[in-house]
Amino acid sequence: MPENHVTIATYDEVEHANIAKARLASAGIDAVLVAVDGGKELVVANEDAVAARGSLADAREAVAEDLDTCPACGSVRFAERRGGVLAAVLTIVLVGFPVGRSGPRRKCDDCGHAWRR
Ligand SMILES: [Zn+2]
Repeated sequence: MPENHVTIATYDEVEHANIAKARLASAGIDAVLVAVDGGKELVVANEDAVAARGSLADAREAVAEDLDTCPACGSVRFAERRGGVLAAVLTIVLVGFPVGRSGPRRKCDDCGHAWRR
């Protein structure tokens, strides 16, 4: 690590590290990714550390608000499938009334848990 630089975050996933680096770049902060055992460290100059941490904290909050997670395991990797108009119409035709709650059906990629919004 260059002198007068500090690690502000460590990432397991290279893509997450790249997103964070791009986020800092858009905030006018130069960051460097350093490969470490099992991941990447996000490194900035000492004088940028406070601003960089603030910028990443803002990003995390935005993500937490926007992103739903699997109720079973907390994963953000899940598939969303909407029932679609055809299925709704078929249900009404076959059963005589709409069945089931509205909202897309979701299935977790990590643990297989299925739920509705
Ligand atoms: Zn899950």
